[in-house]
Amino acid sequence: MTDTIFSKIINKEIPADIVYEDDLSIAFNDISPEAPTHILVVPKKAIPKLSEINEEDENLLGHLLIVAKKITDENNIKDFRLVINNGSDAGQTVFHLHLHILAGRNFGWPPG
Ligand code: AMP
Repeated sequence: MTDTIFSKIINKEIPADIVYEDDLSIAFNDISPEAPTHILVVPKKAIPKLSEINEEDENLLGHLLIVAKKITDENNIKDFRLVINNGSDAGQTVFHLHLHILAGRNFGWPPG
């Protein structure tokens, strides 16, 4: 796949406000936050979107949720929303799979 801005962040070619990193993933503050807390959890493996995962990604996907829990625990965040936008009609703009952690305000349902 073509490089995205997130692969450049993973490769440290461009800066980001990194809050967590391990062998499989990286998490950083969203550059254009939609809530007081808005963190992106990104697998280092360049999967363009959720609908392109396969069974070999099972552990990696579970890992991303564990990372989200670690980040929310460490920041004492009790209530939060996790979002994955899949495809441009769903709002995806960066085609490297990522999980949004949003917190710090009330969220409406259904989402817009
Ligand atoms: P999505 O629309 O679900 O693909 O989410 C992409 C997110 O990446 C958006 O919330 C953007 O604000 C965010 N974003 C884009 N470029 C950067 C960057 N350089 N650093 C941090 N977040 C970014």
